[in-house]
Amino acid sequence: MHVFGLTGGIGSGKSTVTRMLRELGAEVLDADVLAREVVEPGTPGLAAIAERFPGVVGPDGRLDRAKLGAHVFGNDTERAALNAITHPRVREAFMEKLEALTARGVERVIYDVPLLIEAGMHEWMEGVALVWVPRDLQKARLMARDGLDATAAEARLAAQLPLDDKRVHATWVIDNSQDLSSTREQVESVWRAMLARG
Ligand code: ATP
Repeated sequence: MHVFGLTGGIGSGKSTVTRMLRELGAEVLDADVLAREVVEPGTPGLAAIAERFPGVVGPDGRLDRAKLGAHVFGNDTERAALNAITHPRVREAFMEKLEALTARGVERVIYDVPLLIEAGMHEWMEGVALVWVPRDLQKARLMARDGLDATAAEARLAAQLPLDDKRVHATWVIDNSQDLSSTREQVESVWRAMLARG
């Protein structure tokens, strides 16, 4: 199995690129989806969170993400405790998906992880595709998509490694600053390069 990474920054167009890759027949696993699955009602993951963070499970038995987020925001100890619960479970879920795909004869998987490089996970990928836009455009698209003012958009950008710093770790850079047809051409070329591996 060949495992490639896909990453970007907030609002840089990773969802857009994922859609294009899937249209080309690529198997894309989404780390955010896995992270939600491991804390669904009835999972050991949610039970562990409920024990460590009392009050974050609502009366409906679901995780109150806003409450949990407010609790760990800006608190490294609490965030580390949360990650210690979720990260191994996400890793395990990822391995299970890989096994299922391998059993189906799939030979390549693209793992879409928003903070791939911040987490150091790019190290164990066979190659990394980065969805890049210039910072001003990233900020403008983020403001337009999420209805944020400039200060709020800046704050979100500041929580991530700048895309220009991520470029150093990328095998392929997809410049998503032009129209979607330009992006699609680059996505096709990256997918061809991935197919050529192995
Ligand atoms: P996040 O990680 O924050 O969810 P993302 O990286 O998945 O963001 P998208 O949601 O794909 O980013 O794109 C951000 C916004 O920019 C969306 O509103 C999308 O429609 C728009 N957008 C993406 N690519 C382009 C493009 N090439 N031209 C114009 N607008 C674009």
